[in-house]
Amino acid sequence: MQYVSTRDKSVKVTAAKAIAQGISVEGGLFVPDSFPSLTKADFERISELDYIGRAEYVLKFFLNDFTEEEVKNCVKGAYTGSFDDENPAPISVLGENVNILELWHGPTCAFKDLALQLLPYLLTTSAKKVSEGKKTVILVATSGDTGKAALEGFKDVPDTEIIVFYPSEGVSPMQKLQMASQKGDNVHVCAIVGNFDDAQSGVKKIFTDSEIKNKLLDNNMQFSSANSINWGRLAPQIVYYVSAYCDMLKKGDDLSDGFNVVVPTGNFGNILAAYYAKKMGVPVNKLICASNANNVLTDFIKTGAYDRNRDFYTTISPSMDILISSNLERMLFELSGCDDKCVAALQNDLSSKGKFTVSEDVFAKLSSLFWGESCDDKETVETIKKTFEDYGYLLDTHTAVAVNVYNKYKAETKDSRPTLIASTASPYKFVKSVLSAVSKEQGSDEFDNVRVLSAVTNTEIPSPIAELENAQVRFEDIYAKEDMYKAVCDCLKI
Ligand SMILES: *Cc1c(COP(=O)(O)O)cnc(C)c1O
Repeated sequence: MQYVSTRDKSVKVTAAKAIAQGISVEGGLFVPDSFPSLTKADFERISELDYIGRAEYVLKFFLNDFTEEEVKNCVKGAYTGSFDDENPAPISVLGENVNILELWHGPTCAFKDLALQLLPYLLTTSAKKVSEGKKTVILVATSGDTGKAALEGFKDVPDTEIIVFYPSEGVSPMQKLQMASQKGDNVHVCAIVGNFDDAQSGVKKIFTDSEIKNKLLDNNMQFSSANSINWGRLAPQIVYYVSAYCDMLKKGDDLSDGFNVVVPTGNFGNILAAYYAKKMGVPVNKLICASNANNVLTDFIKTGAYDRNRDFYTTISPSMDILISSNLERMLFELSGCDDKCVAALQNDLSSKGKFTVSEDVFAKLSSLFWGESCDDKETVETIKKTFEDYGYLLDTHTAVAVNVYNKYKAETKDSRPTLIASTASPYKFVKSVLSAVSKEQGSDEFDNVRVLSAVTNTEIPSPIAELENAQVRFEDIYAKEDMYKAVCDCLKI
């Protein structure tokens, strides 16, 4: 297996190179040129393993230039002791045939930990193979959760520096405090005046700017990415869909007719991983793409036209406040039958006009695989309230979008197959909105809200949230979005 660029298939690299580099030089994203097919016997064997074993089993296909020992060490390092549950991705049952895949038991209480606890190991192992002793500089644009998860993963990792950009007013207070208080000697956190798309575009621009690239080289450094444009972020996400399938089989769900997967979606990374799991043999029926009021993907799935020229809304599910879903590019590559010219043309339309329309063939494939819907903040709050009343289960604002959209799917299609809903964050990360959904009581501040939420719902406060109350703020710099280049130089002192 090798990795090719979505915009130019003649660019072929090893897994180590794809991960160390993050993005291809012409701006395309790296994708495997073939996928393994897992058989019934594979799934039986995987079922018998713990999460670490499962991750090893699945990831060795994608890391074929790593030794078995290297894969094992990476996975062990990532998933030993860093999650509050023995299984980093356990399932809770929410009514008949509805499974919630809880992906927030890691150190930052969001699903990004599943990938970002592992990525530093993958990256340092890769860099040893291909980077000739250069220091790796990780640039991250975040809508809130990636930033903290990447900071936790990379803090004090030798030979790395990490710089995180987040939209100053576009993250929850808890997310902001999590990042601003980050410990570690190699971490840098910069707020920017703008939204997530500004941060993401700025980072992408820096990645492909040859002047700054050379400046780094002069200092024996090179960039890489911890965003989901990096293949090393996506591969670990495939694991939890394989693992969830095995767990559903084990608990006796009837999956003979397949099962649906619902994903609260922003940058399209998580749902893309579910698609890859399907491609590898996990019997996924529909991939249900749930959006908040920034419903650019809903419209795309319904019409085949992607158009980011629309109002941007700041919602109570901020990690999905995105109008440019960067991983859709990988999906377009799949849908077009690996047509790099087609992908390059569509991405070109996106950057010059802010929109593109896919061909009828591509649209037909898209429609057969995906179903998309959205919900607004009011519906999100109602879903949290109703789910708590009906099942005593507390959803965060992002997962609530998924549950709401799933209910719409079921009402429209009458499809009652078993379903897996990806739960992407702990409710305590978005405490104000969640508390106001389930109770009239309000605390005096963010952490008082945490205590009140715990008391009224009888749920446990995750320790990373509790510990935050006394954390020291270390980072307060705010940059104009035009000054991200300068910010990078300031942080690296170059
Ligand atoms: C990042 C994030 C999402 C969106 O995931 P994508 O992979 O970007 O689609 C959804 N919910 C939460 C809580 C997140 O942190």
